[in-house]
Amino acid sequence: MPALGSAEKPLRVAIVGAGPSGFYAADALFKSAIEVTVDCFDRLATPFGLLRGGVAPDHQKMKSVGAYYDRVATTNSHRFRFFGNVAVGIDITIDELRQYYDAVIVSVGAQSDRRLGVPGEDLTGSHSATEFVGWYNGHPDFQQCQFDLKADSVAVVGQGNVAIDVTRILAKPIAELRKTDIPESILNKLENASIKHIHLIGRRGPVQSAFTELEIKELGEIPNCRVVINAADMILNPSSEAELADPANTKAKKNMAVLEHYNGGGANSGEKTIYIRFLESPVEILGDNFVTGLKVEKNRLTGEPGSQKAVGTGEFETIPCGLVFKSIGYKGVPLPGLPFDEASGKIPNQKGAVVENGQPVPGLFVAGWIKRGPKGVLGTNKPCSTETVQTLIEQLNNLSPAEIRSESAVIELLNAKQIRFVTYEDWQKIDAIEKEKGAILNKPREKFTSTAEILNELGVSHGVS
Ligand code: NAP
Repeated sequence: MPALGSAEKPLRVAIVGAGPSGFYAADALFKSAIEVTVDCFDRLATPFGLLRGGVAPDHQKMKSVGAYYDRVATTNSHRFRFFGNVAVGIDITIDELRQYYDAVIVSVGAQSDRRLGVPGEDLTGSHSATEFVGWYNGHPDFQQCQFDLKADSVAVVGQGNVAIDVTRILAKPIAELRKTDIPESILNKLENASIKHIHLIGRRGPVQSAFTELEIKELGEIPNCRVVINAADMILNPSSEAELADPANTKAKKNMAVLEHYNGGGANSGEKTIYIRFLESPVEILGDNFVTGLKVEKNRLTGEPGSQKAVGTGEFETIPCGLVFKSIGYKGVPLPGLPFDEASGKIPNQKGAVVENGQPVPGLFVAGWIKRGPKGVLGTNKPCSTETVQTLIEQLNNLSPAEIRSESAVIELLNAKQIRFVTYEDWQKIDAIEKEKGAILNKPREKFTSTAEILNELGVSHGVS
């Protein structure tokens, strides 16, 4: 019997989720010593996950890593297939995949968002950053969202880099945004926005802020926009002083240097103002039917350096605003057929091998945010996915080979289910059309914002023989 992973019996792997971690997993498999074929499934018709639908549209340099993922697909076209518009768990189950593949790597990211748990959270005008980011990135799931951009003031809760992205998109002049790949329909809405005041609210202090130096610095470079910090917020308690003095804490030192620049008066002048506010926790989103304000409680920090927590002081303030964006972190969602830890929002695993009741589940693996939680930049997924692939290869002899091994079998299954899947060649056509349309408008691309539009462009009979 030929061994799994040999030329006679290549390892057949299904990757669920065609985002950065999925592509890094495919890359690691192709760079390994084993013979392997990879089929990559995504519920969207387009590949690249958060690179396309999450990374800020005014950070096009960051998007250039897409060329790397593209090379993974095209240089391995004899052993890589993309099945877009196939929702695993709905169109095809994990159990079905396990009949067709020797191993399944789940890299679906963290598709939901954490809740604040305060009264008023579901009022009209209270949104998650996930919705807004998806909307301005043309993600098909969020095109029906409505944001009251006629509001004068906005509160952004949380101070991670997603909160900074949201703040920047709200603060940048429309002429700057028109150079990005934000869809035209959304640019037209942003052009008519009336937002003047953006409150960026952190529950802890400047030393503990989750954002990074380049991102916070960029806020001060927005034309016609002032960035201010209340001087009292920059006064540090002894534990924060100790954190800042820690030679290993370069992130806090770099952040503080930029924040000092905004302290008290701020950089630039202009018609918009970003208020970076520290030591405040939302306790209620105010309004009867629509958001009219955010009630916050002033905090102080307690605890040892490095693990300080915010506790309320009993002093409250109301920030008048017509919109609230909650940007307090993403959260994974369960995938039918797989174990899930609700508290952490992750699939339990050991170095990428899925674990159920303390035991590894042979043939099932995870990579990316669903494996390790929603932290890190795109590149952080590379070592994460490589670790998963190493684990998979170490377990090669324990895998139960797939019962159905023909390459065409999964296509027959999808056809029988009448699923109009999108291939990588189809994506290349869509990509070329988007870039052509973008070139006319002097922007990187003009995105298709619905799966129906994409399928229409590709032709109705596609994917079903
Ligand atoms: P994040 O970095 O984890 O930030 C979450 C923020 O929410 C923190 O300020 C956190 O404060 C706050 N928070 C959490 N629970 C809260 C609560 N109940 N009340 C008030 N505030 C609360 O998450 P993220 O911004 O979603 O980013 C996810 C990952 O993507 C990060 O690793 C980020 O660096 C990365 N990313 C990178 C870029 C870039 O490179 N340009 C862009 C976007 C995202 P505490 O610190 O007190 O918990």
